[in-house]
Amino acid sequence: MIQYGHFIGGKHVKGKSGRTADVFQPLDGTVRAKVALASKAELAEAVANAKAAQPAWAATNPQRRVRVLMKFLELVARDNDELAEILAREHGKTLPDAKGDILRGVEVVEFAIGIPHLMKGEFTEGAGPGIDLFSMRQPLGVVAGITPFNFPAMIPMWKFAPAIACGNAFILKPSERDPGVPMRLAELMLEAGLPAGVLNVVNGDKEAVDAILDHHDISAVGFVGSSNIAQYIYERAAQTGKRCQCFGGAKNHMIIMPDADMDQTVDALIGAGYGAAGERCMAVSVAVPVGKGTADTLMEKLVPRVENLKIGPSTEPSADFGPLVTAAALERVKNYVEIGIKEGATLAVDGRGFKMQGYENGFYMGGCLFDNVTADMRIYKEEIFGPVLSVVRAHDFDEAVRLPSEHEYGNGVAIFTRDGDAAREFASRVHVGMVGINVPIPVPVSYYTFGGWKRSGFGDLNQYGPDSVRFYTKTKTVTSRWPSGVKEGAEFAMPTMK
Ligand code: NAD
Repeated sequence: MIQYGHFIGGKHVKGKSGRTADVFQPLDGTVRAKVALASKAELAEAVANAKAAQPAWAATNPQRRVRVLMKFLELVARDNDELAEILAREHGKTLPDAKGDILRGVEVVEFAIGIPHLMKGEFTEGAGPGIDLFSMRQPLGVVAGITPFNFPAMIPMWKFAPAIACGNAFILKPSERDPGVPMRLAELMLEAGLPAGVLNVVNGDKEAVDAILDHHDISAVGFVGSSNIAQYIYERAAQTGKRCQCFGGAKNHMIIMPDADMDQTVDALIGAGYGAAGERCMAVSVAVPVGKGTADTLMEKLVPRVENLKIGPSTEPSADFGPLVTAAALERVKNYVEIGIKEGATLAVDGRGFKMQGYENGFYMGGCLFDNVTADMRIYKEEIFGPVLSVVRAHDFDEAVRLPSEHEYGNGVAIFTRDGDAAREFASRVHVGMVGINVPIPVPVSYYTFGGWKRSGFGDLNQYGPDSVRFYTKTKTVTSRWPSGVKEGAEFAMPTMK
């Protein structure tokens, strides 16, 4: 059985708290590993290592810092198959999807290699007599990232690559459900030349998270996970004066206009709704056909596609999706299907009875499809995070704009149409952070930024892209006067530029 401890000061260390959690292999339901759950003291040890390593790292010139990331990219490419295998076994997603998870993280590392350019300050010559001003961006010190189970490669890289490129030391607290890939990434950063202590991985649960939030030597926390925890972390981190950005859950709508190319739309919808068993924060979980004719055509084409989804073990490359992450997650999703039936939605496809031959103890279910879902139902309001798609029939365009705009989540949204005017108006009016036009999962490229609105994002800066440099650095502004010998006499009024 694999034992995961922590990665502190460039070394694997065993857990000392005496508490552990099981890491499952969802494809067959077995326990693959035990992961240590850190105590407050173990977290403090990681912070002490990070704090000791950070000043020298910050003093290393920016170009040399990002050379470590360049080498890291080579190592991730070298070990790509191994990383994808660990990821698929601990998460449950298929191997091609696991490679996508790694690649979307790699893209942010590539972005971070250009960070020296974004850390340049500003300069004004002659702002007053003999007075010049300049600003500089300096790292915060020790910063932390708390990440979810559903992207165990991508989201840790989104967090630590920009932070480390900016000269910070980093504490990563990955999900306790699939810690294998984050641990390997930390090893690869060390192999790439990162000094020991600059990147530490502390495994754990609420106890480790609370220790991060309360630790006075941690200057900033970036979180990704469910919304209630996001809000809790945002509030508690603020109590010790930390900079904080927390990204939460989602209910992403796809609007289908009557003029949409229906075959293209159904292809996009089925992939975005059921890929990764719906365990993506940008998964489409609500389809909104506009007009009865559109809805009827959509259902006619969608039902057979959902019925014929190919579910398979994560190691089967031709599967559309694999098992859910844990038995508890499976139970929770099935329970939502029950709730939907009781609420009066029409269950057009019921995948609850699916059993994977030869893997009967794996956490599998088939795709489920609800029609006639309405905005007052729990299955519409709450995040299900499984292979369950709800169809909400809208009468007109205005209703289609209102639905995602009034939903408490505001992560992603998409519109499928051939009408540029409607698409443009939709993108402008909708109250959601990331919009796709004929693109079902509009995760922006790495040199833009990623972030949802409303209960999908707490804090004012997004992840990756230029916002990550703003988040992981603080600005210092220097006002200087040369020659210092200019004599103006003592001045008691507030100094102004004369
Ligand atoms: P989660 O909220 O259960 O866990 C996220 C992290 O918080 C983990 O590291 C976990 O150990 C920690 N945690 C859990 N309970 C805690 C508690 N009570 N106190 C303190 N810390 C706690 O989320 P998850 O199930 O791992 O991930 C799925 C969720 O993440 C979904 O809601 C999904 O939409 C969301 N997500 C959002 C984004 C985004 O960018 N908005 C991206 C990916 C996933």
